Parts: sequence; C-alpha cells; structure tokens
Amino acid sequence: MKITFITAEKTPIAKVGGLADVITGLSREMTSRNHDLEIVLPRYSHLDTTHIDGLSIYRNELLVPWFSGFISCQIWKGTVWGQPCYLIDSNKALDYFTRGVTYGESDDDLRFAFFSKASLEFIHQSGKKPDILHCHDWQTSLVPVLLYELYQQKGLDKTRVCLTIHNFKHQGITNESVLVGTGLNRPDYFFSSDRLLDNYNPHVLNLLKGGMVYSNFMTTVSPKHAWEAKEGDQGFGLRPTLHLYHMKYGGVLNGLDYEYWNPNKDPLIPYNYAAVSVGRKSENKEYLQQKFALSRTRQPLLAFIGRLDPQKGLDLIQYAIPRILELGGQFILLGNSHDPAINREFEQLKQRLAGNQNVHLELDFNEEFAHFIYAGSDFMLVPSQFEPCGLTQLIALRYGSVPIVRSVGGLADTIFDVADTRQEFHSRNGFCFETYSEKELDKTLIRAINYYNDQPDSFLKLRRNGMEQDFSWKEPAQHYLNIYNYIRA
Ligand code: ADP
Repeated sequence: MKITFITAEKTPIAKVGGLADVITGLSREMTSRNHDLEIVLPRYSHLDTTHIDGLSIYRNELLVPWFSGFISCQIWKGTVWGQPCYLIDSNKALDYFTRGVTYGESDDDLRFAFFSKASLEFIHQSGKKPDILHCHDWQTSLVPVLLYELYQQKGLDKTRVCLTIHNFKHQGITNESVLVGTGLNRPDYFFSSDRLLDNYNPHVLNLLKGGMVYSNFMTTVSPKHAWEAKEGDQGFGLRPTLHLYHMKYGGVLNGLDYEYWNPNKDPLIPYNYAAVSVGRKSENKEYLQQKFALSRTRQPLLAFIGRLDPQKGLDLIQYAIPRILELGGQFILLGNSHDPAINREFEQLKQRLAGNQNVHLELDFNEEFAHFIYAGSDFMLVPSQFEPCGLTQLIALRYGSVPIVRSVGGLADTIFDVADTRQEFHSRNGFCFETYSEKELDKTLIRAINYYNDQPDSFLKLRRNGMEQDFSWKEPAQHYLNIYNYIRA
C-alpha cells in the first residue's frame, strides 16, 4: 500500500510529545512490512536536521494557493532512520515555521491550515497517488476536508483518509480566515453543524471536528480512551460527533518503537541491560544520581517525564514531591511547558528545593536525559487527569522502571496493579489508583515504596514482568492495516 503520513511532529527531528514517537514507530513498522510509506512535515527552522540523511532540495518551486495569491515553497527530501520525509519549506515567503517553537503561537490555526493545504498541493502536483493519507490531530485535520472538497476532483479520487486523534483537548478553533486562506471559501456551507461548525460555539469553526466528519475512519490511541471520549466526559465537546460517526470510530492502542527504546542496545544510556540482567539498572541509577547531584543511596528513585500540562496531573505531582521525600525516596522530574506561568511555578518549586540531595527538577526538553532517567529510575509516576494512551509508562516498562499510574485511558489499558488478583502475576506490572486525589495517590506511593523496601525479590519480578511484556507496534500496526484495507474497500 502507498501510505502518506501528514504530521506536525516526528521523532527525532521535531518532537514535542507522544505524537512524534507514534509517527516514527508506526511508520517504521509499516516500512518493515514492505508498505510504501512517506512522511510529510513542515520544514521548521528549529528542525533537528542532524538526523536527516541526504537532505536536499527535491523540488525547487511549489506554488501553493493561499488567500488571493500563491506562496512559493521549496520541498526538501531526506531520510530519517531509513524513512523518506518530505519537508515543506515556505520560510522565504511566510514566517509560519520560523518561530523557533512548534506550537503555542496565536496563529497556529493558520500555520497548520497552510501546512495541510501545502501538503495536498504537493501530493497533487507531484503526481503521487497514495492509497491512504494518515493525518494526526487537529493540525492536519483539514486534510480530509480539502481532499474531499477540492482535491478529489483533481485526480486524488482513490485516496482515503484515516485520522488519529492523539488528544481531544486540542481542536484547532478558528474562523473564516482559514476557509479563505485555503480556498475552501463558502462560509455558509462550512459554518454548518454537519461540517466544521463547533458543537457548542456557533461563531467558530473546529478543525478537529471537520477532520472527524470528513475522514473515512478515525481512531484514538487506546480502546479505553475511545470509550471515555464517546461515553464519558473526555470528548471535550466532540461526544455528539463521535456518536454520529460511531461506525467509523475505534481505539487502537499505541505501540512503542522497540528498536529505539531498547535498554539492551540504547546508545544513550551508560550501561546496557535486558530483563535477565536487570540488576545492572543499579549502575544506571548511580550514574543518574551522580549526574543530577543526588546522594548515592539505595533509596527508591521515582521520576516523572512529560509535558508540564495540567493534563499530566501537575497538582498531584507537586503534592507527591515532598511526600516521596518524607517516605524516604528520591525524585527526578524532567519536563517543560509552553505556558510561561507553569514554567515559573516549577522554577519557584525548584528554588525552594535547592540544596536537597534527594530531588532534582530538570525544567527542559532533553531526549538524552529522558533515556538516563528511564534507565536509572525505579518507578515512573504518571498521575494523569486524562491520558489518551501515554507512552512514558510503556517506555518505563521496557526499561524496568515500574509505573505508578492513575488508571485512566491508555494507562488503564496497559498497567495492571501488583495486587490485582484478576490478572496472572506475570501480567501485573505496576501500581494503580482510580480516583484523582491526593489521598489515593498517597496510599499508592506508600504501597509502592513499601513493596520496594520490604519485598526486593518480588519487586525484581515485577520489573521483569514489565520488561517481558510486548507493547511493540506489531499488533497495533496490524490494526491500522486492517483499517486502511477496510476504507480502501
Ligand atoms: P504526550 O503525547 O501527552 O506528550 P506521551 O506519554 O504519549 O505524552 O509521550 C511523551 C513522549 O515525550 C515520551 O517519549 C517522553 O519520553 C517524551 N518527553 C516528554 N517530555 C519530555 C522532556 N521534557 N524531555 C524529553 N522527553 C520528553
């Protein structure tokens, strides 16, 4: 099959969160099954081009209709870990992708509407006829709208679209300018509840909703979250649309790139190890303690890695830090936010904790540090308010760091409590709590730390359980192929 991913993120060249990892992991699995897979993304000025092989201009001029004129783009091509990537470069004419950040700009809606338009224009003008376009999140949700309203008539009539929603919270709320910019025009037609009109605000357009209406199939990233969004309170206003289109909606659990996230081969960690040699984690732990100037003790080391977004349970994390120290543990946090107020709050917390040799806050995005932390920590804390899938708990399992999670969304689909007698022992892999509260988190922290201190042999088995489970892309990729085949038929 000819498959094209259109995406705002990709590991390792443009990563903000899990979306980037999904693009790379899923596309590598598809390629390994001999599908013809290409990836289109913006040529951000902050793109990490060191990981792109053979980067060169593929097409010197691509004229993209935009408002009343044309934007002249260059298309670059290179391979990233063996995968062909096309980078749309509009930087000479527009400043959309020269801001030094991926998201968080006041004109994000126009930036990504332009990218969606330019991607289709590129596919059309270069004569490519993909069987499947796979779009991701609100940023590329305009692709199916543009395809069916404009590009099908231009020869892309056999192409079908799958949209994956990695996060329902971010929907691309916008106005008429996006219609004018992309040439969709016809506000009366698109400002309608069966097209792009927001379900609750009659004055705005909702790009994610448009993608849901126009795509041939839509998925979110775990079965539990698919249910929570459609039947629970996690659809962020899109519940009616999910009900209306339930026949083309499902949850496919994200996988993990087991080649990249492999403690036995990972070049970024100081001491490689596998499930049989998981004892060697202690050397990684010592390295980590030294790196972040923590005292070198055998106390349990808990960590958090993630975007500092309220979604991730920031108030519970702030509660947990002093509690973990009181309970005799150590704690490392790696995270940042594009909200300056949140960054400031964590900076202040960091200052208050300065000099404490059992805690370190690294307020940054740092891929290398993330690897050290997965390898050196004993536990990974994931106390999310909501979590469509979550990859940090899956990476933690792979690296023998035991997840402590709130059972929600993909966390509920992947982490099974050590005391859950409905599961065989070898399926249990972490510590879970249900209710989002300090009290429930507290009980779980106590259970986890006591288990570590009092039952070292069982704790070792628990680590191994996680390392031996298979959360690779093998099975999820097959689900996506089934979806692609279904919509082609
Ligand atoms: P989300 O997609 O909501 O951001 P996920 O758990 O699905 O969360 O994926 C997060 C990915 O981003 C993981 O690969 C995690 O290691 C990585 N990550 C998040 N924050 C940081 C950071 N500050 N530094 C390095 N890696 C990070």
